[in-house]
Amino acid sequence: MAEVDKEALKSCAACKKQVTKAKRYYRNGRYYCNENCWRKAKQKAAAEAAEAASAE
Ligand SMILES: [Zn+2]
Repeated sequence: MAEVDKEALKSCAACKKQVTKAKRYYRNGRYYCNENCWRKAKQKAAAEAAEAASAE
């Protein structure tokens, strides 16, 4: 059981799926399941930032 915890199953910051240590894609302090999710999260963050900026 402890072995599973040590494998550090992180959640993908984009789709919230669990990312295994072997498959993790680490960018800017967060884990993603692949490059695709990383790009998706980056676009979403950029869109939210633009929205927040235009709302002010
Ligand atoms: Zn993902």
